[in-house]
Amino acid sequence: RTVYVNGAYLPENEAQISIFDRGFLMADGVYEVTSVLDGKLIDFDGHAVRLARSLSELEMRNPISKEDLLEVHRELVRANEIDEGLIYLQITRGSDGDRDFAFPDPETTEPTVVLFTQNKPGLADSPAAKKGAKIISIEDIRWGRRDIKTVQLLYPSMGKMMAKKAGCDDAWMVEDGFVTEGTSNNAYIVKGNKIITRALSNEILHGITRAAVLRFAREAQMEVEERNFTIDEAKEADEAFTTSASAFVMPVVEIDGVALGDGTPGRVAPRLREIYLDEMRKVAV
Ligand code: PMP
Repeated sequence: RTVYVNGAYLPENEAQISIFDRGFLMADGVYEVTSVLDGKLIDFDGHAVRLARSLSELEMRNPISKEDLLEVHRELVRANEIDEGLIYLQITRGSDGDRDFAFPDPETTEPTVVLFTQNKPGLADSPAAKKGAKIISIEDIRWGRRDIKTVQLLYPSMGKMMAKKAGCDDAWMVEDGFVTEGTSNNAYIVKGNKIITRALSNEILHGITRAAVLRFAREAQMEVEERNFTIDEAKEADEAFTTSASAFVMPVVEIDGVALGDGTPGRVAPRLREIYLDEMRKVAV
């Protein structure tokens, strides 16, 4: 693979960053994952806007303009001949060559910018989406700024492992009795013609896919209710699903061993997935 590191395109085994980089030592960095369909970027703008916000919330300098970032994404798609797949982007605070809890001087410290591609043929026409996901619920013990997309992903990784050990696909996290979000996606339940999902706050990531899917749902005359829901309410829902840039709309067919509806993906989630893919392909860049 050709990867991008701080202005250079290199073979992946020649790419290097400092062992003092605060991304490595302190998870002091942010990321974005943008999907590629038909060799084009899905919702690049949404990801660029959220990236700028994450950096600003952490008082990190944005080292690359949106135009340059788009060009790097496109160049990696070209170089690695990606038709369907993902582009991973990470910006960390860099380092001043030492380890200290205080941030290094932003005037003299260059943030580290890394991008690489993941080739995923069949991303859109996914067998997993036709089957639907089985999930477990786990306690949400993450920090209080989940709206910032940091590379601090140890607990979500552990959650995914807990799900795997239970023979499931993913986990939804629960705080004070209410579902926050999935390990790497936003969470929804469906009751009749109504889609229910937690409102935006510091407690969840403001999903780029969430924004688009809720817009399409409203345009399709579905009712959208942004409010908290419990795992018990979810188990009694007609349907459930998750959204993320890398899995689009993913039906959920089982929660903590309880089948939803008839245990198949249902009506609303597959329809939203289709609308999302159709509409986003049209405006891909
Ligand atoms: N919540 C969490 C915790 C996530 O990690 C992700 C995906 N990175 C999402 C929600 C979905 O966000 P998006 O639609 O922007 O991929």
